[in-house]
Amino acid sequence: MKYYSTNRKTPEVSLQEAVVKGLAPDKGLFMPEVIKLLPQSFFDDIGNMSFQEIAYNVADAFFGEDVEADVLKQIVYDTLNFDAPVVHVNDNIYSLELFHGPTLAFKDVGGRFMARLLGYFIKKQGQKDVKVLVATSGDTGSAVANGFLGVEGIHVYVLYPKGKVSQIQECQFTTLGQNITAIEVDGTFDDCQTLVKTAFLDDELNKKLNLTSANSINVARFLPQSFYYFYAYAQLAKQGKAKNVVFSVPSGNFGNITAGLIAKRMGLPIKRFIAANNSNDIFYEYLQTAKYSPRPSVQTIANAMDVGDPSNFARVIDLYDHSHAEVKKDISGGWYNDDTIKEVVRDTYKETGYLLDPHGACGYQALIENLNIDETGIFLETAHPAKFLETVESIIKQDVAIPDKLRAFMKGEKKSISLDNNFEKFKELLLN
Ligand SMILES: *Cc1c(COP(=O)(O)O)cnc(C)c1O
Repeated sequence: MKYYSTNRKTPEVSLQEAVVKGLAPDKGLFMPEVIKLLPQSFFDDIGNMSFQEIAYNVADAFFGEDVEADVLKQIVYDTLNFDAPVVHVNDNIYSLELFHGPTLAFKDVGGRFMARLLGYFIKKQGQKDVKVLVATSGDTGSAVANGFLGVEGIHVYVLYPKGKVSQIQECQFTTLGQNITAIEVDGTFDDCQTLVKTAFLDDELNKKLNLTSANSINVARFLPQSFYYFYAYAQLAKQGKAKNVVFSVPSGNFGNITAGLIAKRMGLPIKRFIAANNSNDIFYEYLQTAKYSPRPSVQTIANAMDVGDPSNFARVIDLYDHSHAEVKKDISGGWYNDDTIKEVVRDTYKETGYLLDPHGACGYQALIENLNIDETGIFLETAHPAKFLETVESIIKQDVAIPDKLRAFMKGEKKSISLDNNFEKFKELLLN
């Protein structure tokens, strides 16, 4: 399968090149040339299949031409050694819990898949000393760092905005050591992302170093996120509830929702999507006005969605041939400020006993406001509420149990390098 750039100013590349490079030389994002429709027999049987079986079928449609079947199967099965259950919350609303992986956020799926696929390609190319750069608004850093921890020949640099990730999130990528270096940037997530993107376009760095990216701009991270849309559908299908399914996706950089749009293109019967934003409502504004006006992000309690210029917007509009009208047919939006998010977490907990995290709360609220009576709504619960401990406890005025997996991270010692928001300094750091 070939991959083209959304800017269409570079020749198409192989999967291997798209994964190793991350970003296209024309600054576009890679997209698969073909999105295969899966056969009806797959959908007929989907309710009887395991998460791993479903995921392997989806992975095969993208990567089957480029990765040997046994290798791909191993990658998929290793990646998904945890569940993603659909849990009933309220009326016709369900939570797709994506926090059962090692770092308790959905980023584990893409992070683990990408680490394994990149590891495979690097070995095949006989490369050594590969530097993986990743900007994080909180959860990507930990998922990617944990995916790559101890992998020989690869060093991971996690760039994160100082004082803008939760304490527990920070522990998850600053305490690992080994081949993981955490860089605390005096700036926002967008600044971190810009530093990473600039590094990929810097001639000197690219001549001297093997750089790659592990952000959702990488196809190996974003495509596997489609697996759990199929699995969620399968779980509802099994209960005979998979009619008029609406997915509500708490969105920041828009990688997660784009994977859902791809699942729909592969034939998954999804009626429509809702993109739920926090106060960074750039996409919501685009839906209303047809104008895309990126702006600096503002800090919210749903910090992983504090993105002012979502990278994957390029992929969304590419999928719809840049037609605003077509985008609107499939996706509607909503946005919620911190006060509303707090209210939603508190009230939902009180009324249903279900504890939302601040990101999932946006997805849930968007369903409450938009879901029709004949539809079944699934919101993506993108992280475990305990990852945002201080915030969530102060909202519900109650202690939140911390899962053991998470507690283990909190014991380590924080180690990070401070960096001004300055590209030359970042470059120096990479070169030394
Ligand atoms: C990353 C993240 C999001 C946003 O996902 P995108 O793919 O960037 O839109 C939402 N919630 C949580 C908890 C996250 O970590």
